[in-house]
Amino acid sequence: MNATGVNETENDIVSVALGTPLLAAYDYHVGGFGPLARGTIVLVPLGRNFVHGIILGPGSDNVPRHKLRPIKSVPRLAPLVPCFVDFLEKVSAWTLAPLGSVVKMVLSQPDALLAPPLQTIYRPVTPQPDVARPTKARERVFDLLQQTGGLSAAEIRKNAGVSASVITAMAKQGLLEAAKIHPSTTLAHPDLELVGPELTADQRHAASVMSGSIGAGFSAFLLDGVTGSGKTETYLEAVRSALAAGQQVLILLPEIALSTSWRNRFRARFGVPPTEWHSDIGSASKRRAWRAIQKGEAQVVVGARSALFLPFADLGLIIVDEEHEHAFKQEDQVIYQARDMAVLRASQEACPIILASATPSLESWVNAGMTGEKQRYRRLVLPNRVMAAALPEISAIDLRATPPERGRWLAPPLIKALQARLDAGEQSLLFLNRRGYAPLTLCGACGHKLVCPNCDSWMVAHRLAGRLRCHHCGYETRPPGECSACGESDSMRACGPGVERLAEEVLHRFPEARFAVLSSDTVGSPRASEMFVQSVIDGDVDIIIGTQMAAKGHHFPNLTLVGVVDADLGLAGGDLRAAERTFQMLMQVAGRAGRESRSGAAILQTLQPENPMILALLDGDRDQFLAHEVAARQAAGMPPFARLASIVLSSPDQERLHAAADTLARAVPHFEGVDIFGPTSAPLSFLRGRHRARILIRAEKSVDIQQVVKSWTQDLKLPTSVRLHIDIDPYSFL
Ligand code: ADP
Ligand code: ZN
Ligand code: ZN
Repeated sequence: MNATGVNETENDIVSVALGTPLLAAYDYHVGGFGPLARGTIVLVPLGRNFVHGIILGPGSDNVPRHKLRPIKSVPRLAPLVPCFVDFLEKVSAWTLAPLGSVVKMVLSQPDALLAPPLQTIYRPVTPQPDVARPTKARERVFDLLQQTGGLSAAEIRKNAGVSASVITAMAKQGLLEAAKIHPSTTLAHPDLELVGPELTADQRHAASVMSGSIGAGFSAFLLDGVTGSGKTETYLEAVRSALAAGQQVLILLPEIALSTSWRNRFRARFGVPPTEWHSDIGSASKRRAWRAIQKGEAQVVVGARSALFLPFADLGLIIVDEEHEHAFKQEDQVIYQARDMAVLRASQEACPIILASATPSLESWVNAGMTGEKQRYRRLVLPNRVMAAALPEISAIDLRATPPERGRWLAPPLIKALQARLDAGEQSLLFLNRRGYAPLTLCGACGHKLVCPNCDSWMVAHRLAGRLRCHHCGYETRPPGECSACGESDSMRACGPGVERLAEEVLHRFPEARFAVLSSDTVGSPRASEMFVQSVIDGDVDIIIGTQMAAKGHHFPNLTLVGVVDADLGLAGGDLRAAERTFQMLMQVAGRAGRESRSGAAILQTLQPENPMILALLDGDRDQFLAHEVAARQAAGMPPFARLASIVLSSPDQERLHAAADTLARAVPHFEGVDIFGPTSAPLSFLRGRHRARILIRAEKSVDIQQVVKSWTQDLKLPTSVRLHIDIDPYSFL
């Protein structure tokens, strides 16, 4: 048979990648189940337990047959498609995460492997027995069931707005009968006859190029368009083409960008909602979604980065929206960059991928051939906003020339601009990417700072909650009445602003203004976020004071001013991408102003108005920024013109950590074109109760950096309390 098929070997020994972290593949005997193809999901014994795994292919002959244990059971599912299994192996090889950890992400919903349980529904009994006068609630239930035939208790509760006890009582009195049915798995199909808005010439061109690539193998596109240029509308045309070809589509969004407005847009275009996959989806829905995706029934899936590991039966197109977002980098367990792995998946599936952004990542910019390197992605440009609205006018306030009052954060020109908007009945957004009241609390008498007992970081004051919190580990306490170092009472002082403190200043300056704080502390759930957005649209708020939550996706028609309280905030620290990240965030937050016909303004408060990043923002010249950043990275020999990997060692025990760091330092490999920095103490040298040391490996692009890391670390013997984290292409340098 074929290369991955079964009959080619009569082998009844198979290699199974176990869905268990830190493990790789083990051989099993197929027992009575053979032959079994690559990609088949199986349940196998491991120690005294059973775990699910994926068959990779024939086993080795290394272990004597009689020592092998047999497969326990095989769920009734089609095998995963071979190119998906290839993808999983490649992800493991790229990230250096054990295959077991990668497989575990795929098999995250073990219940999805079982046939779904029968569902209980309720139907009205006919004729209805004669009982007490029906209540309004009972009438609603009755009407609902007359219309629908029968529904589950949960559906009745939701749609008729009644409590569970109403349903139980009605069943008890013989008004409703319970029946067991197979839950329906038929999902509503997207309606391909619906038409979207008439596309502009630029949009039409981009859409037709992307649509034309469906079914024609791997290709990658950078859809580069300013905010409001209709990128979403345009890529939905390509989605339509893939659906018309009978294939499935995966749309990856940074978690935060999946707003009601995005959902509504999708629904308007296709008449049905997409299948969703992210952290707010309950496990029953996940189970259903996983199965429907695996069977090829779910046609469009929209999700956060973890959706990349869903078992599509026939994937025809991947879209990564807001491709520059750092939220695509997963920082724990398997450390991977979902955008890059999405490109890998598309190449394995032999399908096109579209990366969309108004502020492309430097990586994608280079891959689009914009710096003279080899062109890997085709760039499609949407240069103009669709609704005549102009991009906001961006200006700076030099905080050295016009500083705020002592202990305040708003400079006089910004206060004036806010007042003008208030007078005109327009809305403003004050942007400060810092949660809580103040980032630091110290003793005015002795200078003692409040730090986290588990981390090398300050405790952040949260006055609304009356707590001090560590933003790294979540540790929290009540604010102390007296200084623990000198015993002075009432001596603790807040230093620096967070959004809560800014709100205090707004209240002081504009006592008549209605303001609201938008941060993950004040608006914690998607539902709360929707309500917040609605209250702004309804005009219940004059001034929004927000963290990065306010920067994304929202569309506030009456918002005409964005004030960036500290444009320099993101630039501090030794992060390779600090300027890029800050630029992207400020472009995005500035884009909140003047989304409709009214023009908007953005004002940046800064101590360094001559910084190239700030200058490019003021000129509204994104490409100027990218060119500057390209030059800086090239000069420094940094990604995307070189490769990086980082190794973090951590241990609760400082002695052991030092010993492990010494072991690593002694084994340092020598490779051509490779520089190794460290081990040194990490910038965050103590985190969640563990001491940390860091190594940075920089290599020429031609070097196989994974090989360098592997040859260095694979045979290393470290004490059990010492953990070693490998991060290929790191985004975090803490
Ligand atoms: P982007 O994703 O680039 O920010 P969107 O796709 O969200 O842009 O489009 C911005 C707004 O313009 C949306 O309300 C969208 O429905 C609308 N729009 C986009 N393209 C068109 C078009 N060709 N005709 C009319 N409205 C459009
Ligand atoms: Zn003190
Ligand atoms: Zn902490």
